[in-house]
Amino acid sequence: MMSIKVYNTLTKQKEEFVPIHPGKANIYVCGVTPYNHPHVGNARPFVTWDVIRRFLEHEGYDVTHVQNFTDVDDKIINTANKEGVQWYDICNRYIDSYFEVMDKLNVRRAHVYPRVSEHIDDIIKTVQCLVDNGYGYVVDGDVFYSVEKFKYYGQLSGRNIEDMMAGARVDVDDRKHNPMDFALWKSAKPGEPAWESPWGPGRPGWHIECSTMSMKYLGETFDFHGGGSDLIFPHHENEIAQSEGCTGIHPFVHYWLHNGFITVNEEKMSKSLGNFFMVIDILEHYDPETLRFFIVSTHYRSPLDFSDARLTEAQKSLARLRQAQETLGELSEMLSAGPTAESLALREKVKELREAFMEAMRDDFNTALAISHMFALAKEINIYHKAVVDAGIKPDGKLVAMFNDVFAETCSIIGVLEKTAAPAAEEAGDSKEAELVEMLIAMRQDARKNKNYALADELRNKLNEIGIVLQDTPQGVKWSKQ
Ligand SMILES: [Zn+2]
Repeated sequence: MMSIKVYNTLTKQKEEFVPIHPGKANIYVCGVTPYNHPHVGNARPFVTWDVIRRFLEHEGYDVTHVQNFTDVDDKIINTANKEGVQWYDICNRYIDSYFEVMDKLNVRRAHVYPRVSEHIDDIIKTVQCLVDNGYGYVVDGDVFYSVEKFKYYGQLSGRNIEDMMAGARVDVDDRKHNPMDFALWKSAKPGEPAWESPWGPGRPGWHIECSTMSMKYLGETFDFHGGGSDLIFPHHENEIAQSEGCTGIHPFVHYWLHNGFITVNEEKMSKSLGNFFMVIDILEHYDPETLRFFIVSTHYRSPLDFSDARLTEAQKSLARLRQAQETLGELSEMLSAGPTAESLALREKVKELREAFMEAMRDDFNTALAISHMFALAKEINIYHKAVVDAGIKPDGKLVAMFNDVFAETCSIIGVLEKTAAPAAEEAGDSKEAELVEMLIAMRQDARKNKNYALADELRNKLNEIGIVLQDTPQGVKWSKQ
């Protein structure tokens, strides 16, 4: 296996990925609190980790991907109370919505989706372990974690306890030994779900679930932990304190990877600014593949700004790749011949572009750079197609096969243009529109018959510009709307 470098938040540097178990990569990603539809801030980490997972699998790793649902939470309880329904009704509704949205974004499903409500016994065991080890203390049915007891506290976020106390708006709770101490277990309040525990009825604090459920499914120490950079503190810092406080094993996680912030029209995303985009709102204006492509076109650690202009740009870029895919389809249908000096040189170029793509991915999953090599490949496909058509020669069969392999391979890692969706014309629009498109397709077919490839290409490009994508198949031309 070739070496992969990842930027580790824990050590603040790029490091070579060395798996704990040879050939395996264990990943835990913090999931959503299902009290609303997924927003763009959710889409980014999950699309990012989907690409990372695809690449690790491509490189031959046996990946186990675990992602939780925080289904016990104040926001869920509040929403349920507002609507007059049960908390689990809210969870079920928005977990369904989560899967619906992520399926559309072509995000592969994790292997396990543990939920807090189904792991209360495991969580109680972890809290008990922390109390037994002297990290947890009990006050009136609440259990707190004593941050001063844990010598690595602050290592992940790069802060020390004094700075945190000075900088944070800490709600003063006299029962805590230190204002930075956090709840492992919260005693029951009226109108809230509660479970029996050694400290009386109550429910888990937020952070303890991820320590408990990640270790349950991936072991006491595992390879990758991911999430948005907003989770570094306090959530991930506290996860480390809990897991290591319980097991005594350091480090709990070998590589912490965090995706960058999201802004909307260059403002930090927040509900109060009214720019809290739901993914379903964006999908009313852009197809899911465009949104996915937009997300991965920026390196995962860089900030990402959502705006109409940038999404439209991504749509156009993706259309260029789609067009190259079609052109490649045309090349593949032609009768092929042996190599020429030019095509032999191109074969080398395709190999180089493939290697450049993989090298970018191996360098901290640099999708932005990797995708630039996909565009270079697309350009070569278009140039070669034109050269073949202009000269009236047969394409080099081996070269076309290489184009196909590398194009498909890189697309499957990025997770776009994987399936050539060609819905029947009648599904794609009203009958007048369909008639017009069919008419233009017929004109293009005539042009091709008359070897007027320039006109044929122009018709296809013009259709492409208005979002009609043509696909040449053995059964004839199919078209679809983007
Ligand atoms: Zn978490």
